[in-house]
Amino acid sequence: MHNAVDLTPPAANPGHTYMMIFYHDEIAVKNGNGRPKLPSVLDVINWSIEVADAQYVGSLNGAGCYGMILRSPVKLAGGCFEKLAQLPGRIGSQALELAFRAFHIINWAKSADFCGRCGERMLVASASRAFARQCAACGCTIYPRISPAVIVAVVKEDKILLARPNRFPPLHHSVLSGFINPGETLENCVRRELREEVGIVVDQIRYFGSQPWPFPDVLMIAFTARYVSGEIAVNQSEILSAGWFSADNLPAIPAYGGIARQLIDWFANKD
Ligand SMILES: [Zn+2]
Repeated sequence: MHNAVDLTPPAANPGHTYMMIFYHDEIAVKNGNGRPKLPSVLDVINWSIEVADAQYVGSLNGAGCYGMILRSPVKLAGGCFEKLAQLPGRIGSQALELAFRAFHIINWAKSADFCGRCGERMLVASASRAFARQCAACGCTIYPRISPAVIVAVVKEDKILLARPNRFPPLHHSVLSGFINPGETLENCVRRELREEVGIVVDQIRYFGSQPWPFPDVLMIAFTARYVSGEIAVNQSEILSAGWFSADNLPAIPAYGGIARQLIDWFANKD
């Protein structure tokens, strides 16, 4: 079941239409007292950006929102490019959802031009099936791919399990995460990841929250869990080291905003 997203754009109003301009993994924003803001079409015209192939992705406070990819960088008077991954917690949740949705869909669409079943060209499906593409020849319909992954804060008495994944900067620790296998429940994925990556057993797996992470198409599903047994034995193919840390002795952790940091903050602030 796919919920309908209203894909009928509001009436054109350049001063009241948001444009999400992406360049690699960055988005063009206006500077607003330290809090970035999405630019309007008028801002984008002032920046001398030619609007082409913009994708309508929804509306924000009655204003249409469009996304597009910029081929080469430009200077932005009164604005700048910011890493999209650093926006959580710094812009409104609805604006963030639209920016993540636009980035996700635009990048997915690059690999959705041709039918995977018969090789013919895919067309945009009806508006009632949001963002879907359909093959004109064989009728195969596809939707933007979403890859679910679990992320989990394991607590052992007054300590939290943090690890250094080998894809992170040196000395940077976070909670563990991993992709879900086909046929696997979220809870079994949490148990398997912890068993495989650090050799421990947990119980009391509780849902915490979720966050889309469109780099390129992840949905992070967060849990808390209680340590039961096992000594930490690191799987070196995934992580460099792991250990138990108390709230008053945390190592370098992810910046505020993302779900990993929210889990660590939950641990640090709980009784
Ligand atoms: Zn086909």
